[in-house]
Amino acid sequence: RNYATSAERNPKFSSVNSEDISHFKSILGEKYVIEDEDKLDDANTDWMRKYKGSSKLMLQPRTTEEVSQILKYCNSRHIAVVPQGGNTGLVGGSIPIFDEVIINTSLMHKIVSFDKVSGVLVCEAGCVLENLISFLDNEGFIMPLDLGAKGSCQIGGNVSTNAGGLRLVRYGSLHGNVLGLEAVLADGTVLDMLGTLRKDNTGYDLKHLFIGSEGSLGLITKISILTPPKLSSVNLAFLACSDYSSCQKLLLEAKRKLGEILSAYEFLDVQSLDLVLKHLEGARNPLPPPMHNFYILIETTGSDESSDKEKLEAFLLRSLESGLISDGVLAQDIQQASSFWHIREGVPEALMKAGGVYKYDLSLPVEKMYDLVEEMRTRLGSAANVVGYGHLGDGNLHLNISIPQYDNTILAQIEPFVYEWTSKHHGSISAEHGLGHMKADKIHYSKSPETVQLMASIKKLMDPHGILNPYKVLPPSLTS
Ligand code: FAD
Repeated sequence: RNYATSAERNPKFSSVNSEDISHFKSILGEKYVIEDEDKLDDANTDWMRKYKGSSKLMLQPRTTEEVSQILKYCNSRHIAVVPQGGNTGLVGGSIPIFDEVIINTSLMHKIVSFDKVSGVLVCEAGCVLENLISFLDNEGFIMPLDLGAKGSCQIGGNVSTNAGGLRLVRYGSLHGNVLGLEAVLADGTVLDMLGTLRKDNTGYDLKHLFIGSEGSLGLITKISILTPPKLSSVNLAFLACSDYSSCQKLLLEAKRKLGEILSAYEFLDVQSLDLVLKHLEGARNPLPPPMHNFYILIETTGSDESSDKEKLEAFLLRSLESGLISDGVLAQDIQQASSFWHIREGVPEALMKAGGVYKYDLSLPVEKMYDLVEEMRTRLGSAANVVGYGHLGDGNLHLNISIPQYDNTILAQIEPFVYEWTSKHHGSISAEHGLGHMKADKIHYSKSPETVQLMASIKKLMDPHGILNPYKVLPPSLTS
């Protein structure tokens, strides 16, 4: 394993034997009980190739009933499991740490219903985000979330991680957009909370426990989600700023002057852009030389083509005149817009290609956010390439430390410093990626002891044997 882990396999979990395998085959059919080494190798390894489990078994259920039978059996035999969607998670949450059975949702990919009047989509957890985006596009709607991993990540994984992404600044988090869900508990009980109502104050709203709990409380099988109508005018600007303070002031101005049409406000520093230009095929800087210190993408989405464009152009002109931006270009067509997005969305891939990467996904007060990047640069000197990018409009920094290969002495200079710094500034050590395995024992930097204790009690109540995604989210000492 590339990444230091202090976890030890919990001996209370049973290892899978041939009788178990026969039982799983009787539930799913032979074809959907995967023991093939190549397939397992992929499923055991995370997107960053940082974590590697040693599971010998992956199950591919096609229905809620099959998930229920699998979990009921695993619970009775104390077999640990890891729910897996598209396996694009960035915190080592979707892969087994030891020999947990992988329950992969890829074959649960049906769209159940779509109501054009309310915009409510009901679908199975294994639907790939990009497929949902295309489906809705044909209906004249959009998904309220979008992220660089859309071609592989699944809506069940998105909801389980409470994924944020590029549109949160406009449409809010999944806690607001998910109207209902169906989930299977550790003992196989199916919880039907698949409501499609916008308003329903009948008791505790338990669906929220599953949104963002990273498969530690149940396996989500179906989702009902509110989708906004697709608006006719979308504009995208790629801008340059000379310093971080201008990026902040520009954000405030954008909220004031573009408020109702602003749909994304993303930033990357010149070090991030450099990586993209070096490592991503076809990537080209939309702006002529010289290079600037920071780059901002502003997207607007509205219903009036000419007035939206006029508004954005006037905003850009004023920002140029006042010196908030040093240069900028408006995408002239869809191809150009997607080439701008390719740069911002391509940063994680470029980092991967550059070697090893330590990734930190932090919520911080916007005015403090970039101080951390600079302090980290000073701390690590020439040993690493420290880059900052992310969802500035949401106060979400992706601090990434790129190194030729993983190195524990560098890691010791980064952690716990990065968590202590974030905690001192009242930030969150996980803005949108979750805690997974990477930060299971770091939760106390962002949550009080009483809160963590209540979480552990809820986990114990819902999953008494702790079979659901062990070694993730909460410190193992509290859940074993
Ligand atoms: P997986 O990686 O398979 O699983 C993630 C977690 O959810 C695991 O803990 C897993 O056990 C659990 N899980 C999966 N499915 C279920 C289920 N049905 N029921 C219960 N638990 C389940 N994230 C953002 O928030 N914003 C971004 O902008 C963003 N950009 C990204 C860009 C790239 C290039 C990449 C590689 C990743 C990015 N991510 C981003 C992270 C990742 O894509 C998200 O966390 C995504 O929501 C994970 O979905 P998935 O289907 O791949 O889930």
